[in-house]
Amino acid sequence: MEDASGVGPKLESLTFDELAERLQADGVSRAHTQPLYRWLQTGERGKFEPPLERWIDARAGDEFTQAEQVAETPSGDGWTRKFLLRLGDGAEVESVLMGYPGRFTACLSTQVGCAMGCVFCATGQMGFRRHLKAAEIIAQARHVAAELQKHHGEKLRNLVMMGMGEPLHNFDETMLALEHLTETRGMGIGASRVSISTVGHVDGIRRLAGHPKRYTLAVSLHGATDEERSKLIPINRRWPLAELMKACRDYSEIKGQRVLVAWTLIGGVNDSDAHAKRLAALLEGMHVQVNLIPLNATEGFDGQAPEDDRVDAFQRILQDSGLPVTVRQKRGLDVAAGCGQLSTERFSA
Ligand code: SF4
Repeated sequence: MEDASGVGPKLESLTFDELAERLQADGVSRAHTQPLYRWLQTGERGKFEPPLERWIDARAGDEFTQAEQVAETPSGDGWTRKFLLRLGDGAEVESVLMGYPGRFTACLSTQVGCAMGCVFCATGQMGFRRHLKAAEIIAQARHVAAELQKHHGEKLRNLVMMGMGEPLHNFDETMLALEHLTETRGMGIGASRVSISTVGHVDGIRRLAGHPKRYTLAVSLHGATDEERSKLIPINRRWPLAELMKACRDYSEIKGQRVLVAWTLIGGVNDSDAHAKRLAALLEGMHVQVNLIPLNATEGFDGQAPEDDRVDAFQRILQDSGLPVTVRQKRGLDVAAGCGQLSTERFSA
């Protein structure tokens, strides 16, 4: 796996049992594992007994994962807060707390930049820098959870792996982070409340289908023919639509779950009645929920969101074909925290 970070294994990456063994090897009773694990995973510091205090002090920093906030941007509507976090090697990632009536969701990054190069996406426009370690993904969740607690007095219960990067391109570290984040002795987020968003990394979808946990799979399509999709999403050339749809069907069958299909609507590009009909035909018979996302503008892509009545017409065609469809609520657009807008370069611009 690529790793330019030089970031070694951190304590947050260790499983509960590994942490217990680590304490024991250092002459500290395994009985101290629970408060230590909880603190590492959630940031909530309970009462530490003296032997554990001494063990932590002796490690002073370098085995703990840094995710220092260097900027925070709340959106004008107050629902979204975007955080720019600096990691131990100086790399920066963005994490977002998104609020909806009755629900808060953390959107986490899995890579610094992204190798997938989707043309409309600010992260894709940055290029790929490196994968994140599990501990760095956990540190983002911890940060967002603490902010949620501080400002709204609520626990974090929903996660989307939809920030910077393609999570399935960083499969092992993403899965390890989620193993921890769904662990009841840690943050305890329900697996069904975790969505993993992919742009169509078929090998990753197949590996995810074989994973014991039932995370929600969200697939960004944006095009219903190979020719159209490849123009927006270059990895469609590696994993064309037929292969991708087969992997989605299999996932849905193996897991007994619907797959979320995201379709970014770009005015004059993929928003016509004909596009809607082709999408309906592609999804026929599949257990899916379609989420339409009017394009979020980025500086590096010369596209616009369609007019509202075009969005409505597109939605209606899909609904008339029997597909469940929602239009994504716009969140955080004024702070470039919408889908496809995350970029540390944009943040610091
Ligand atoms: S849309 Fe997702 S997969 Fe595509 S370039 Fe952006 S971050 Fe990467």
